[in-house]
Amino acid sequence: MKQRIERRLFFEFTSHTVVFAAVFAAVAVAFSQLVPREGAAKQTAAGEVLTRIVIDPGHGGEDGGAVAPDGTAEKDINLSVAKSTCALLTALGCDCVMTRDDDVMLSGDGAGSKKLRDLQSRVAFTDGGGCVFVSIHQNKFPQNSCAGTQVYYSKNDARSEKLASLIRKNVQGYLQKNNTRQIKRAGSEIYVLDRCTVPAVLVECGFLSNPAELELLKTEEYQKKLGCVIALSVADYLYDDAAGRD
Ligand SMILES: [Zn+2]
Repeated sequence: MKQRIERRLFFEFTSHTVVFAAVFAAVAVAFSQLVPREGAAKQTAAGEVLTRIVIDPGHGGEDGGAVAPDGTAEKDINLSVAKSTCALLTALGCDCVMTRDDDVMLSGDGAGSKKLRDLQSRVAFTDGGGCVFVSIHQNKFPQNSCAGTQVYYSKNDARSEKLASLIRKNVQGYLQKNNTRQIKRAGSEIYVLDRCTVPAVLVECGFLSNPAELELLKTEEYQKKLGCVIALSVADYLYDDAAGRD
């Protein structure tokens, strides 16, 4: 119970604070019990050590992703949420990298379509293993009544499902108490989850096609709250893993 209350305080504090690493660092010290043990490293049964977190803001550059009726592009919200997530995880002592930290496509040069090369570049961040992959996106649907965060997980590593469950639980607990969306196992339609062989999830934060949710998603405060929930979930995941709880 103690840990639960402290996490709530942590969420309330960070989600209302301007994102500065120094502020997060101070908060992290104050709430140091949240820092995953052994510097976020986990020796798994298979001998693998999870030491890095890859945060992947979907789309970028000429690929805007889903576009809201008012012209808001998914890529910009994805990047903002990802930056908050990564800043908080870094402050918590985790080794966190982003696949992009600017408005760019990761297509580079080479054969195949630009989009495919972009997706391959994102997956390449997990080369060598020993990391967790979290892709951040926004949803869109023809019916504008659809709302709420939806989390997908990769079939390639059994631990992906647990990470997805933690994100879903924390989204419901901290942000969307009426969210009844269950986590979903991704098939080949989600390239990055199909190709990642490390624990991997994709978070569709909300629906750009829902007018009320779009207004929320456009605010810096809500973007930070989403980043905070995702970061806390990843920290929970590493902490539980380090403590040997499955
Ligand atoms: Zn997307």
